[in-house]
Amino acid sequence: MTTVFLKKGREESLRRFHPWIFSGAVASVSGTPYEGEVVEVLSSERKFMAYGHFQKGSITVRVLTFNQDCPPGDDGRMPLEFWENSISAAMRVRTSIGLPSSQTDCFRLVHGEGDSLPGLVVDVYKDVAVLQAHSAGMYLSADLIADAVMKCGAGRIRAVYNKSEGTAPHKAGLSLQDGYITAPYGADECAVQENGHRFHVNWEAGQKTGFFLDQRDNRELVGEYSKGRNVLNLFCYTGGFSVYALNCGASSVVSVDSSAVAVGMLRRNVLLNTGSEDAGGRHVAVCADALDYLRDVSNGRFDLMVVDPPAFAKHRDALDNALRAYRRLNASAIGKIASGGLLFTYSCSQAVDRRTFELTVFSAAAQTGRRVRILRRLTQPADHPVSIYHPEGDYLKGLLLYVE
Ligand code: SAH
Repeated sequence: MTTVFLKKGREESLRRFHPWIFSGAVASVSGTPYEGEVVEVLSSERKFMAYGHFQKGSITVRVLTFNQDCPPGDDGRMPLEFWENSISAAMRVRTSIGLPSSQTDCFRLVHGEGDSLPGLVVDVYKDVAVLQAHSAGMYLSADLIADAVMKCGAGRIRAVYNKSEGTAPHKAGLSLQDGYITAPYGADECAVQENGHRFHVNWEAGQKTGFFLDQRDNRELVGEYSKGRNVLNLFCYTGGFSVYALNCGASSVVSVDSSAVAVGMLRRNVLLNTGSEDAGGRHVAVCADALDYLRDVSNGRFDLMVVDPPAFAKHRDALDNALRAYRRLNASAIGKIASGGLLFTYSCSQAVDRRTFELTVFSAAAQTGRRVRILRRLTQPADHPVSIYHPEGDYLKGLLLYVE
């Protein structure tokens, strides 16, 4: 097995169970591990610290276990038993918060570092699981992970689809290909329920794993406040917030997204819930750039807005531009919303922390000169847990604003 030796004084974060070892903390590596191999990590005093997936780049090792009694097999991968234990532990967390339920049959089963499985996401849509590997190591273990998911699904999960082509590292020499790890499902989509609202989810053509499960609690809140309001849902994707608003009695909803595929699915989701694509004249679907659309909106036309853009800052280097984009977007929304309006605004960029996001929205509000109160601070739901040792996992930041 390959061994990674740490530099003196660089063990501290690992002792506090932070799961990433940066390249700057590595003193030397015995041999030449392949990308994705499970390596052993030793302190500068040659004491065992962890086993984890090796990868080239700024994060050299993603820790899988701090337990020396849980070594990898001869093939450089963690054994099936490790995956079964880890995934059934993740399942227990979901069961303990009532997922799945009679109202909600889609949920995140594995949330990377939050479930001590850095680099792995598994989302469940009724009876199919969609696996997304963000590291070479997870990609190389996808077959074992799928076995463990099927087993811990206790007969509920029929198929596991690997959707890692766009997320696993391209430079690692893997031949990345999306597809079923198990026998095929027989369709590329299914209809799920979330808090009793219904959605078609297509994991093959959709973004991420097919649906943005991380907005579930926030969609519920939007539903609660939508009755009798004129709602604008910007960056609507397949209409998550729009469906809740329509089902909860919004007077009108306009949904905007720049993806034609997403807008097509949005229309089908409105049909599924309301019986017609335009919800009996209450819904308009628009395929357009959100900022362009907002520019032409007349002041006061909407009294509830949702602004849920994609991650503008995918990396730290992009931070300045991202903050400018968040400011421009929020200033425009705050400027246009009706007096007494509610604005739900989000950032899902991991590189933008909560404080920075609030400061950015604050400066956007100040630009408009309007009086703005923060009613709530919003975040991701409980099936997207954050390891207390890995605060970076707190990626979804939102504010509910009241604009006078
Ligand atoms: N709120 C959604 C998830 C939003 S994901 C939900 O609850 O499901 C972000 C969306 O923004 C994606 O659907 C993407 O197609 C869209 N998008 C990206 N850039 C855009 C732009 N400039 N204008 C409008 N939509 C955009």
